[in-house]
Amino acid sequence: MEAKWRCIIEWITPEDAHIWYIRDVIYQGETRFQRVDIVETRFGKHIFLDGKTQSTQSDEYIYHEALVHPVMFSHPNPQNVLIIGGGEGATLREVLKHRKVVQAIMVDIDRELVDLCQKFLKEWHQGSFQDPRAELIFTDGRNFVEKCDAETFDVVILDLTDPTREGPAYKLYTKEFYELIYNVLKPDGIMVTQATSTYYNIEVFSSIFNTISAVFPVTRAYKAFIPSFLSDWGFVIGSKKYDPLKVNQEALKYSIQNDLKAPLRYYDSNLHFSLFAISKNVKEQMSKVGRISTDREPVYIAI
Ligand code: SAM
Repeated sequence: MEAKWRCIIEWITPEDAHIWYIRDVIYQGETRFQRVDIVETRFGKHIFLDGKTQSTQSDEYIYHEALVHPVMFSHPNPQNVLIIGGGEGATLREVLKHRKVVQAIMVDIDRELVDLCQKFLKEWHQGSFQDPRAELIFTDGRNFVEKCDAETFDVVILDLTDPTREGPAYKLYTKEFYELIYNVLKPDGIMVTQATSTYYNIEVFSSIFNTISAVFPVTRAYKAFIPSFLSDWGFVIGSKKYDPLKVNQEALKYSIQNDLKAPLRYYDSNLHFSLFAISKNVKEQMSKVGRISTDREPVYIAI
């Protein structure tokens, strides 16, 4: 990424880049783990980590609602929730909207980044870090689940940076890692991960799907169009018991109306089912590419 002449060039693949015009710079610097740019673009406040868009003020609600609510509403009683990553605090915000949640633990590797988000991205976290049900832990997410007691959580949400070669997250996309997540989930537990672009990174998206399928009896891929991510964005659910496609639509509508403390802007009981409608061409590609990612041979994103 280059940041000069008031623009940031974000490489999407080794051959495609997006040039972002910078209206204003809010913060630029390096933490121990990653480069952080918080700027203003036409999407409002906009956070980049290691040169990659993480979320923007005008469409973060789409990403965070799409990540959180399909799993939360697929589980009948999501009381204990673990979030790994999610530095901006918006995943925590969406989880805490659920009245049934008793405890939400968020584990992020980067304390300096979370401090910056608390300071500069108030529109994202909206005070969620101060909720008495929230607990914040700063350590590597893999390290945390390795030491965690078995069968602790109803829901695990992985809101991590992409699996880049140099980044801190690639070990949290492997079969061995998903086995650890399986172990910390209760017998009817369910997990979700962000799974990169279904267009620009189809091999990585398919690999995440195939890797989770090798561990969980129920695996579902879905997608949501996030304007600032420039394509449909993939998500993958792994579940020990509940199938998100077997949720009762009337019951879901009732729960959305009654079990939330604050309204949603994107997700509703009709959208729930259409999120899982992967187009024929993408399914065809998924059947051809995407090997299982392992600790010995992890799958990395191209850039
Ligand atoms: N929306 C994003 C995307 O599309 O890539 C993910 C957003 S969130 C900012 C990513 C978070 O993952 C960051 O806060 C980062 O510090 C955290 N993270 C990366 N590697 C991690 C690890 N090994 N353990 C815990 N957190 C990690």
